[in-house]
Amino acid sequence: MDVIIIGGGIVGTLIARQLSKYSLKILLLERESDIAMGATKANSAIVHAGYDPIPNSNKAKTNVRGNKLYPELCSALKVPFKRNGALILAFNDEEAKVLEELKERGRKNGVMGLEIIKRDEILKREPNINPEVKMALYAPSSGITSPYLLAISALENAWENGIEVHLEEEVQGIIKRKRGYIVKTNKNSYLTRYIINAGGVYADEIMKMAGIDFPFEITPRKGEYYVLDKKMRNLVSSTIFPTPSPISKGVLVVPTVEGNILLGPNAKDVKDKEDKSTTWEGLKEVWEKATKLVPHISFSSVINTFAGIRAGSNYKDFLIKEFKSAEGILNFAGIDSPGLTSAPALAEIAEEWLKDKEKLIPKKNFKGERENPLYFRELSNEEREELIKKDPSWGHIICRCEHVSEKELRETIRHPLTPKILEALRKRLRIGTGRCHGAFCTPYVLKILSEELGKPINFFTLKGENSKILFGENKARWKYAKRS
Ligand SMILES: Cc1cc2nc3c(=O)[nH]c(=O)nc-3n(C[C@H](O)[C@H](O)[C@H](O)COP(=O)(O)OP(=O)(O)OC[C@H]3O[C@@H](n4cnc5c(N)ncnc54)[C@H](O)[C@@H]3O)c2cc1C
Repeated sequence: MDVIIIGGGIVGTLIARQLSKYSLKILLLERESDIAMGATKANSAIVHAGYDPIPNSNKAKTNVRGNKLYPELCSALKVPFKRNGALILAFNDEEAKVLEELKERGRKNGVMGLEIIKRDEILKREPNINPEVKMALYAPSSGITSPYLLAISALENAWENGIEVHLEEEVQGIIKRKRGYIVKTNKNSYLTRYIINAGGVYADEIMKMAGIDFPFEITPRKGEYYVLDKKMRNLVSSTIFPTPSPISKGVLVVPTVEGNILLGPNAKDVKDKEDKSTTWEGLKEVWEKATKLVPHISFSSVINTFAGIRAGSNYKDFLIKEFKSAEGILNFAGIDSPGLTSAPALAEIAEEWLKDKEKLIPKKNFKGERENPLYFRELSNEEREELIKKDPSWGHIICRCEHVSEKELRETIRHPLTPKILEALRKRLRIGTGRCHGAFCTPYVLKILSEELGKPINFFTLKGENSKILFGENKARWKYAKRS
């Protein structure tokens, strides 16, 4: 191999796409059963404007650059992106002073269009905001996207351009050789000239595997969320922030590109890097803080809760570094917020790093654009009718909450990069993510997986090992699904 990328989050997948422009043998290794299973799956999905990071830090530089790259990137990969703007609210004079500081910091970071607006203007833009608000910093370049669709699309695009992807392959050892490294996984060993460490919360452990002696440690920081039903889609149109604290941007009210609203996240240091549990205390804190920004949110509109883990670290900035003791390994470590926003700029940094080492030869047949499959929910009635006439499985709606048809489901299952697990179908199609949470569609999804792959329904899992959904056949729903 020329390059091994460790980690299939937003950082690893965008780097894979960036490098797939060149004639290189690239392998991306991901320990989970799908890509985007770490922080990239569970975050606020905001493409931050860039007023928050300390000027000249890696975070500041890559945030502002990443934000600029988003529209073109999402358009090429056919991923939703919207510049919905952000309002950072101040409820007293002290907070109003912080807004002035943020505006100045934003100016230094090169963020365009920041302005401080007063109560009447805030309420004119967002009538559901707490009327006790005094001032707000308005950041028009703030946006929203779908982090996991972006990671999936970037990787599919990189794969179309020739890179290799191995899921369920965990890097367990890195051994230096004269020219390059041996990367040992739970399944295989590979000789590679270069390694890119994009291991998220495990990036510090990967550095240790490579023998890097540097006082760097990731301290996982959990953030919990509520998801509100799409009927609340008009609650706010901009992303609503409180005045930030030194460790967190605070609990937010965020519209998503799918039409839901997120409330969260809180920020709590945890010991376990896999602790994605939601807690009563955490969710209570989120509810209290979110309803201070936007009161009168009905609890009956909550359809889900989830938590994500930030890769906080003692370094306080993104650690982007090749160490002398481990030349040929570029580390992206401590990539907490705004890592999603910064990821396209981090991919550029990886490309420049490799260009300094090697004469990279561009592929003549590189395809930078990706075509999206057709999504039933996005089609007009006329378009739907046309498709149903050609293939009636377009008209068989499997997921009623998210309007997903049998045709889309079968085509997605057949894609070589789609893992045959429920979670992968949820991320790619939103199947089972609506109000009923898969109560209606899961038996049909299992039936179709079973037909497509010729395995019994109890073979399939939610997200790979130790997540079995069914252990055997049982009465009504499965039999009903079998009959229809
Ligand atoms: C609660 C929360 C809210 C956030 N909100 C925002 C936001 O609104 N905007 C924003 O810009 N950023 C936000 N972030 C930050 C952003 O989500 C992360 O910075 C970004 O997703 C990090 O991507 P990554 O690829 O570095 O890590 P990950 O997505 O965690 O990917 C790392 C991958 O490496 C794999 N891996 C690890 N070790 C190994 C190994 N040994 N072998 C093989 N594979 C391995 C993991 O399984 C994982 O899939 C938020 C983060 C959290 C948690």
